[in-house]
Amino acid sequence: MKIIRTVADIREYVRCCKSEGKSIGLVPTMGALHEGHASLIEAARKENDVVIVSVFVNPTQFGPTEDFDAYPRQLDADAQRAEQAGADVIFAPTPKEMYPSVDMTWVEVTGDITKVLCGRSRPIHFRGVTTVVAKLFHLAQPNRAYFGLKDAQQTEVLRRMVTDLFFDVELRIMPIIREADGLAKSSRNVYLSPAERTAALILSKTLREAKEKFVGGLHDAAALVDFVRTNISSEPLADIDYVEIYQLPGLLPVKSSLKGKYLLAVAVRFGTTRLIDNVILED
Ligand code: AMP
Repeated sequence: MKIIRTVADIREYVRCCKSEGKSIGLVPTMGALHEGHASLIEAARKENDVVIVSVFVNPTQFGPTEDFDAYPRQLDADAQRAEQAGADVIFAPTPKEMYPSVDMTWVEVTGDITKVLCGRSRPIHFRGVTTVVAKLFHLAQPNRAYFGLKDAQQTEVLRRMVTDLFFDVELRIMPIIREADGLAKSSRNVYLSPAERTAALILSKTLREAKEKFVGGLHDAAALVDFVRTNISSEPLADIDYVEIYQLPGLLPVKSSLKGKYLLAVAVRFGTTRLIDNVILED
C-alpha cells in the first residue's frame, strides 16, 4: 500500500486512476483508525476499483481550547489497519500542504444546520470540516465518499455542501460501529479513565431505551428528551452538553409529536472528554 504525502503526488495518482477508467472511493479520516473507520474502508473496497483513505488531523475544525495537539497520531498503525481493511493508498498530508497560505478560502454551509447540536458548542467546527472535505474531494475526485452515521450532523452538513456546490460524488453513510458493551467506537475513547469509560455506557444504553420507547409508541419529543436527560444525569461523571431531536433529512426543528424520521443526538462530557452518540427514530 502506498503512502502519499503531497498534493502533487495524490493528483498524479488520481490522474493515473482516472485515465485507466477506475472508480475511486474516498474515506476521509483523522487517523487513530478503529473498527468504525475499517467498516467504511471495507465498504469502499467492495464498491470501487481504488480506495483512498485520507489521514489528516484537520486543524481548522478544532476550536482554540480543543484537543488538536493531544489528538492521537499513529500513522504506522493506521497504515496497517487501512491496508488490512482494503485501502490502496493513504493520503497523509501535512497541515502546510493542505493550507499553504495564511490567506485562504473557506467552504461554509450557513444556517441552522451548522448552528444546532455540535455547532452550538463548536462554532467553527463545521466550516473546518466542509473546507477540508471540499479540498479532499477536489484532490481525490472520488466517485463515492464514505462517512459514518456516528457524526450524523456532519453527514447532513456534507450532503448540503455536495448538493449546493454540485460535487459529482455519491455520499455513502455507514452505520455506527460499537464496542461489545455498546460504547460507540471513537478515536477519543482512549482519553477516558477506566471509571469514565464505564460511566460512558450510559449513552448507548439510554439511546437504546429511548428508541424502544419510541417504537413502543412514545412519540412526544419533549418526553423523549426528558427521559434521555434524566437518565444520563443520573450518572455522576456525565456532564451533558446537549440532548436534542431534529428531523431528518436536514436537521429541521421537530413538532411536539414525532411522525417521520428523526435524529436523537447527545453530546456529553466525561471529565475532559466530550463524546457524541445518536440514534435514528423512524416510525
Ligand atoms: P474521524 O477520524 O473521527 O474524523 O472519523 C472519520 C470517519 O469515520 C467519519 O465519517 C466518522 O463518522 C467515521 N466514524 C468514526 N467513528 C465511527 C464509528 N464508531 N462507526 C462508524 N463510523 C465511524
